[in-house]
Amino acid sequence: MRFLSTRGNCPPVSFSQAVATGLAPDGGLYLPEKLPDIVPCLREWEPLSYQELTFAFFRLFATDMEEDTLRSVIFNSYGKFDHEKVAPLIQLGGNLHILELFHGPTLAFKDFALQLLGNLYEEQIRASGKKLNILGATSGDTGAAAIHGLLGKVGVNIFILYPDGRISALQERQMTCTGADNVFPLAIEGSFDDAQNVLKEVFEEESFKLEFGLSAVNSINLARIIAQCVYYIYAWFQLPPGKRDNVEFVVPTGNFGNVLAGWLASRMGLPVAGFKVATNQNDILHRLFRSGRYEIGKLQPSCAPSMDIKVASNFERFIYYSENEDCSRVRQVMNEFKSTGVYNFEDFKKNNFSSSAATDADIEAIIGRVYDEYDYLVDPHTACTFKEIDPRKTSVLLATAHPAKFPEIIQRATGIEPRFDSLELLKKRKIVKYPISPDKEAIQDFIRSRAVADSGALA
Ligand SMILES: *Cc1c(COP(=O)(O)O)cnc(C)c1O
Repeated sequence: MRFLSTRGNCPPVSFSQAVATGLAPDGGLYLPEKLPDIVPCLREWEPLSYQELTFAFFRLFATDMEEDTLRSVIFNSYGKFDHEKVAPLIQLGGNLHILELFHGPTLAFKDFALQLLGNLYEEQIRASGKKLNILGATSGDTGAAAIHGLLGKVGVNIFILYPDGRISALQERQMTCTGADNVFPLAIEGSFDDAQNVLKEVFEEESFKLEFGLSAVNSINLARIIAQCVYYIYAWFQLPPGKRDNVEFVVPTGNFGNVLAGWLASRMGLPVAGFKVATNQNDILHRLFRSGRYEIGKLQPSCAPSMDIKVASNFERFIYYSENEDCSRVRQVMNEFKSTGVYNFEDFKKNNFSSSAATDADIEAIIGRVYDEYDYLVDPHTACTFKEIDPRKTSVLLATAHPAKFPEIIQRATGIEPRFDSLELLKKRKIVKYPISPDKEAIQDFIRSRAVADSGALA
């Protein structure tokens, strides 16, 4: 299987190359040359464990990896999850189900992709003999999940920039209390935007990037999308057969990586009724699905911070399919959007998507109501999925974070203080972080002094 850029201006690559490269050299995002048809596999896949299903699914894509290697990478990746089923489906009542995606080490769904990506990087380092430095910027969950995917691994150091004082105390502890000596949390004086801007400047300097084998951790890596397809298939198998075809997956959405993965699984043949994009007040995608107009908004910090985005970085992959895989159209849309901040789709096709948007007030009210009605605690991201539920369908709502990560709002809404042992433990550990100004030279100096020895570019 080969992988193509959505913008069509660079040669096809193998799975391992696409993973190592991240963003395609022409600025596009990688997708499979042709989506496999999984319908003939479904009967065989039904009895599989989460790990076995992931292995069977990845074999369709990672055709350049040895099977034994792929198998061990996958089994290691889900070994740190604290639920036997990895992604259990809970029935709240009637047609309402919750897919719990918060049983990984950082208690958010990003562990599904980043535990796996960490192990894939480790494997590439082993196979190539090249060492890597990973650099990312985070407003919370991604950084923690990336760090826990690479914690203590040999041949790779990880540097994560975050806005000092502007992420939750628990998120900061997940990044700064690991005790691992290959982890460098850089506490930036400034906002998340400042962190992202300086990150971009560092990556733009090609020679520095090559010298230190600098690789990005962000939401567009192909491996993340493929890893996230699996739990949709697994959830589908956990439903009674009579309900499966009528299922609507409702997904808390920011950068559109999670819901896109489910939609790709349906394009590969998983028979479902549809997908609902549940946004918070940063509703660029909700406005798009209502009107066909994709227009950048102003960032409005919300109580569901991991969905606070101005543009949805994976949306380009959807455009590729909705424009019938015409790369020149993708380039045209992305260029116009980049220069004007808006794109109007004529004759916009929703392609099985619907959408909703929840304000902060909605979110708090929903957390209280769900607790009253179902005796179940939802975190503020998951709460967005309850905004509009279609009673004619079987709904599977994706729970993307554990409620204990957001104790203040849960307590306000329900009077309950959610607790989780691993988070309590973190509160006793020492914080190790490196305060730094959002300045390119300062960041480069820091990386130079702490880079893993003998690093060099992979792809
Ligand atoms: C990242 C994140 C989201 C948004 O996922 P996307 O793939 O960016 O749409 C939702 N909820 C939580 C808890 C997250 O960490």
